[in-house]
Amino acid sequence: MIRLNLQRGSAFMTMLKRSLRGKSLLLKRFATRFRSLFTHVVVPKPLRTFGRHALATLAVLAVAGLAARPAAAEELAKNLFGAKQLPAVAAPQSIGFYSKGCFAGGVAIPLNGPKWEVMRPSRNRRWGHPTMIALIEKLSRDAAADGWPGLLVGDISQPRGGPMLTGHASHQIGLDADIWLTPMPDRKLSLEQRENMSATLLVDEKTHLVKDALWAPAHTRLLKRAASYAEVERILVNPGIKKKLCDTVKGDRGWLRKVRPFWGHDYHFHIRIGCQPGSPKCKAQENAAPGDGCDQSLAWWFTEEPWRPNKNPDRPKARDLMTMASLPAACQAVLDGPDPASAEAVTYYGDGVPVAAAPVLTKAPSPARASASGAAALPATANAYAETPEIGIPLPRPRPGG
Ligand SMILES: [Zn+2]
Repeated sequence: MIRLNLQRGSAFMTMLKRSLRGKSLLLKRFATRFRSLFTHVVVPKPLRTFGRHALATLAVLAVAGLAARPAAAEELAKNLFGAKQLPAVAAPQSIGFYSKGCFAGGVAIPLNGPKWEVMRPSRNRRWGHPTMIALIEKLSRDAAADGWPGLLVGDISQPRGGPMLTGHASHQIGLDADIWLTPMPDRKLSLEQRENMSATLLVDEKTHLVKDALWAPAHTRLLKRAASYAEVERILVNPGIKKKLCDTVKGDRGWLRKVRPFWGHDYHFHIRIGCQPGSPKCKAQENAAPGDGCDQSLAWWFTEEPWRPNKNPDRPKARDLMTMASLPAACQAVLDGPDPASAEAVTYYGDGVPVAAAPVLTKAPSPARASASGAAALPATANAYAETPEIGIPLPRPRPGG
């Protein structure tokens, strides 16, 4: 018995799509391989003249057609949001939680700014709440004044947020952004370099300690600057980087409270801002624990426990289960919302106002705090971000088993 995986994106469906595109070699191979499936099909006489390749194509179409209906009814939210190329035109609003939500009225950060460059542009994840985009642009200027040449901007959000096809579990409501810990080079990167340039891993994979030869005071200044903004609630870094800060920061250490350790984040750091005015459906995260975090909760990361292999490597990730029913109901309207005229029309150039989506600065009621339930097995620092390792670059990191 041959079992076909008819999920969108499966190897089978990819091959099917390709083979149906034309008279490719793949189609021939495919037809030959699956011919045995159709040997008992009664073929009407006129059809026989199509030859066996055409027959296989038709039969395969029928199989795909049968599978299409139930699949469409439960389409995964990651496919729907992942397919959106542009944001929904509306007043900026984050809906739901960082790892389960969406947002409307998003704007894009330009691919190039005076002091930033967007990396991996083909992912189309340079979208965020206008406050998030404005904050990155401000950080790029302030960091430059501190002596950091410029920001390499990693993933922010999809145009309408929502679960992603790959990578992060959070970044869904336009309030999360990844910034590389590699300074912007003094030459402009080509699009090709932005897709392929490797990042510098600052942490030794075995010891989980920062590689001292690569660490510079400029890294500390950059993180401190990012933590200095009132909008920023958390900054997520590898435990090794957190430890380096704990061991070396003198004087004002208050900002260390916002800097929390987490898996990955050894070539970039993650900025999370709070729910913004105008987003009554935005669910705030728990407050960071008091203190600088250079304590037991950090020591835990230097035990064996966080790095044990995942006991259930095959367990599906949240994004592989979430349908529209899993997201806040308002996300359907976000998904159905109108496109702007172009990406350019909703690109935020800073200094002035966003071109097409001005932030609505109405007073919103204090958003409800998110519940901490379901994360009891991990220390408070570990559940602040439900984030999976980055896909693609660099190597996948060990990830939480729970
Ligand atoms: Zn991130």
